[in-house]
Amino acid sequence: MDTGSVRAVNLSRVLAAALAQEEPPTRADLAAATSTTRATATRLVDELVAHGVLVEAAPDAERPRRPGRPGIPLQPGTRHVALGLQVEVSHLTAVVVDLAGTVRARRRVEDDLRGSDAEPVLARLGALAEHVLSDLPSGTVVVGTGLAVPGLVAEGGMLLRAPNLGWSDVAVAALFPPPAGTGPPTVGNEADLAAVTVSSTAPGRPGAHPDFLYLSGATGIGGSIVLDGHPLTGRHGWAGEVGHVTVDPDGPPCACGSTGCLEQYAGSRALASAAGLDPSAGTSAIAAAARSGEPAAIAAVERAGTALGVALAVVVNVLDVPVIVLGGHLREIGELVRPVLEDTLARRVLSAGWVAPRVEVAPAHATAALGAAYTELHRLVTDPRPWLTGPVTSREAR
Ligand SMILES: [Zn+2]
Repeated sequence: MDTGSVRAVNLSRVLAAALAQEEPPTRADLAAATSTTRATATRLVDELVAHGVLVEAAPDAERPRRPGRPGIPLQPGTRHVALGLQVEVSHLTAVVVDLAGTVRARRRVEDDLRGSDAEPVLARLGALAEHVLSDLPSGTVVVGTGLAVPGLVAEGGMLLRAPNLGWSDVAVAALFPPPAGTGPPTVGNEADLAAVTVSSTAPGRPGAHPDFLYLSGATGIGGSIVLDGHPLTGRHGWAGEVGHVTVDPDGPPCACGSTGCLEQYAGSRALASAAGLDPSAGTSAIAAAARSGEPAAIAAVERAGTALGVALAVVVNVLDVPVIVLGGHLREIGELVRPVLEDTLARRVLSAGWVAPRVEVAPAHATAALGAAYTELHRLVTDPRPWLTGPVTSREAR
């Protein structure tokens, strides 16, 4: 390894250790956490502090005193942010997130984008991105832009297919107009990116589960399998399309061209239609109807729960994933579907008698836009060197 790579690894280890701590660590804490000398940890931390990646907080009088001088607690800085963007069938979202995981700005515009033209939609998203960046203090550095889309993404930011948007072979990265001072976006699958907010509770801070299946419910249903903290992407990055697992081959036609896919039972529009509501009614309305005892809504929720159980039992039987996290619109019916979902899993998962799959509802903040921003910030954590050069006074692209 050359000296540049060694420096990158050491900076990354110290920064990752700092971000992973619940309590703001001192230089001595970071030396211990990374098994380096106090002098080495101090030199690395000083470099990160000089460029605002970490900042020194006031010493905490409550902390137990060690012998010698009290250490200065270190926190993630607010100078480096990432832009997280999302195109969903029902909305466009833009967020700005800093290294502490604080959302600094957010805009969401509701719309019906089924069958839309990609270019004007991406132009609107560009304007939304420009808007959320407009109020940041000068000197803020945008380390990257992540853009989440509900479909299959290929290298180079090409969206191959998003059945519910009706988009095919769209060069999303090339068509998106980046705001002034930012670079082209990294395009990713929305479920994979939303899952990042479960595997990390803030940039660089591990979440509760190393192994889980994340389901991202909207008009369609996306999925992401995370094993040992890493997404299982498959050869092309297309793994996890749980929404198109067949629940009933004789079931209703799906936008993907198949029949009886999971999203035809548990997608938001399918669920609303089954409940006898307008397809755009929204899942909170269905949940409210089911809770008030409306028979059609109860039947629709139970049908969705059974379909989820049938499809997810396939995934658990094949991959041995212990936790299922229900995200997106499935959050709103999570507690309602849980009994029938758990019952179906118990009957269909071979190992359920020994370890029953756990079903959890995703935290409210779990969105693909946020996960896209976290992913960009993780790049800074992996190699902080590009952001440690010279004083920076304005927004900078990578
Ligand atoms: Zn399908």
